[in-house]
Amino acid sequence: MGKPLHAATCAVLVAIAGCARSPAPQGVDADRLLNADSEPGQWLSTGRTWDEQRHSPLSQINTGNVAQLALAWHADLDTNRGQEASPLVIDGVLYVSTAWSKVLAFEAATGKPLWRYDPEVPGEWGGRGCCDVVNRGVAAWGGNLYLGSYDGRLIALDARTGKPVWETNTIDRDQPYSITGAPRVVNGKVLIGNGGAELGVRGYISAYDAVDGKLLWRWYTVPGNPADGFENPQMEMAAQTWKGEWWTLGGGGTVWDSMAYDPTLNLLYVGVGNGSPWNQAYRSPGGGDNLFLSSIVALNPDDGSYVWHYQTSPGETWDYTATQHIIVADLPLQDGQPRRVVMQAPKNGFFYVLDAATGKLLSAKNFTRVSWATHVDLETGRPAETLDARYDRTGKPAIVEPSAQGAHSWHPMSYSPATRLVYLPMVETSMAMTTDPDYKPRHMAGNTGTGRTPPDIYEQLQSDAPRQSSAYLVAWDPVAQREVWRSARRGRVGSGVLSTAGGLVFQGSADGEFAAYRDTDGKKLWSADPQTGVVAAPVSYEVDGQQYIAQLAGYGTRDYYTGNHSRLLVYRLGGTDQLPAPEAPPPARTPDPPPAFGTPQMLALGESTYNTWCAMCHETSYGNRGLFPDLRVSPMINTAESFRSVVLEGALQSRGMASFGGRVAPDEAEAVRAWLTQRAHEARAAQR
Ligand code: CA
Repeated sequence: MGKPLHAATCAVLVAIAGCARSPAPQGVDADRLLNADSEPGQWLSTGRTWDEQRHSPLSQINTGNVAQLALAWHADLDTNRGQEASPLVIDGVLYVSTAWSKVLAFEAATGKPLWRYDPEVPGEWGGRGCCDVVNRGVAAWGGNLYLGSYDGRLIALDARTGKPVWETNTIDRDQPYSITGAPRVVNGKVLIGNGGAELGVRGYISAYDAVDGKLLWRWYTVPGNPADGFENPQMEMAAQTWKGEWWTLGGGGTVWDSMAYDPTLNLLYVGVGNGSPWNQAYRSPGGGDNLFLSSIVALNPDDGSYVWHYQTSPGETWDYTATQHIIVADLPLQDGQPRRVVMQAPKNGFFYVLDAATGKLLSAKNFTRVSWATHVDLETGRPAETLDARYDRTGKPAIVEPSAQGAHSWHPMSYSPATRLVYLPMVETSMAMTTDPDYKPRHMAGNTGTGRTPPDIYEQLQSDAPRQSSAYLVAWDPVAQREVWRSARRGRVGSGVLSTAGGLVFQGSADGEFAAYRDTDGKKLWSADPQTGVVAAPVSYEVDGQQYIAQLAGYGTRDYYTGNHSRLLVYRLGGTDQLPAPEAPPPARTPDPPPAFGTPQMLALGESTYNTWCAMCHETSYGNRGLFPDLRVSPMINTAESFRSVVLEGALQSRGMASFGGRVAPDEAEAVRAWLTQRAHEARAAQR
């Protein structure tokens, strides 16, 4: 690896080698990351700093002038799939990853494109994940950028050119792993996890040498088959907390998003995901804590050795990941002395404050309605569960708050050292959960072990309006463990959050608004219309004395028919760029479905096949947002031939619709078509 070019070198090289005229990114190293606050105009890592506070020290844009914030430049993206990345901004260059793990570089001040990299993820991999082919960011170290591709590769790119320097495979490619999270780099080691716990894998995190891509260490989050021996003493200890043959479906525990690093303690904090399958009755019959599912684990990044863990939901059975954003901070706790803490607000609805050195639980409080536990016992660190929520043990359906969507999912929060508040994208949400009595594990398919909502429970959910998903931006005092203010958002989920020294909190919403709030009381001071849903977290940077706010937009659409405009949007005071006028409103009626067909048995087969293979992407409770076609109105259901060509023969594989040939039988595919056609007629009748 060559050393990074410095600006002066570049000026000399322009004449002899055509060195780009754009600002030359200098290397990112431990010194720069340690002293990130001395370069407030940069955004050097996905959470800006190793402690991942996502708070910008810039204050040119502030509560007094934010009304003048306007678009400086924008860049349309080449896909309408989901966009979840936080850009990096280093020495005047903005780098952003997009759906399908592509990376783009722009001049940060002007939006001039510099380079573009496409790892060419095969389209059929689109069917190997739970939640779209998203990517949440890249990492920088030396003169390189690091990208985790959806198909499980870790790729080093030359930050000046976007050309690959090295790439390495991080997964067993016969298992349904995928990568959507941003790598982090600590002292020359690139850290990367993966996803796939909805389908059935064994989670782990790996460290690779930033220079040459050599695997340095790997730490599994759940034990494998004891007959194969344990990788380390922690796996042997963890195996005592499992029952049955959990390893046959992997056990889960993927490290698919959050990490943070404390350089003073030299500890890497890692968030661990849910179990495979969700339902503990199938995963670990007879119970057990199932370590290290739903845990925050502290590792020594030098060698990947275990230091401590805290488990948020022992024996979880509700998809309660602890992969949500982790923030390291110094908080004045009750005795007034600053204490180094780790904070997390995971899906399960409790806000946890842990001692960063030991993992001891210092406080925990629910930040939304929670029905699965009444409180967390500070002595034992364990939740006081309500038995009713344990559908896996009672054998009865349960309405559970929060839902699998999570009271807070991957959408990053922020911590302002000025207000000492955490700004948290919160969702009030509930779900019905019940055991699927006919569950059988299936390779490369959704494996939750949960079943269909019984009609009476479904009616109860529908009629109970407060239980419907509603999104809020919440200002949370982590010392007092109480809400200071909340602001209701449009749509079912709010975007990630940025706070700034200008006294502002920026957040978007899934149905298309991007806004700034006063950090002390949540008063909305500014908003823009991005013409699409916004879920990624914004960042802020400065070039030549001008502060910018950058936001990646694209979440699918307010309505399936309006089309989606995935875009990078960059704002500054007095910006003069404008988005083109949005498209015309959608047609009022759905197209005519083909004639209904199929016996009751065929329709039942169609429904169960659909739920097993299709529902994870197409029109589930958290999937139906216009990213994936609503198959009730797809022309593909018009004939058996067209449906078969897509579902069994991969006609749309290059666009991310995997072939299910060999997994779904021809009569099952036709039964799905019959069931979809019936549902299309129901939808049509409901419009009349
Ligand atoms: Ca999950």
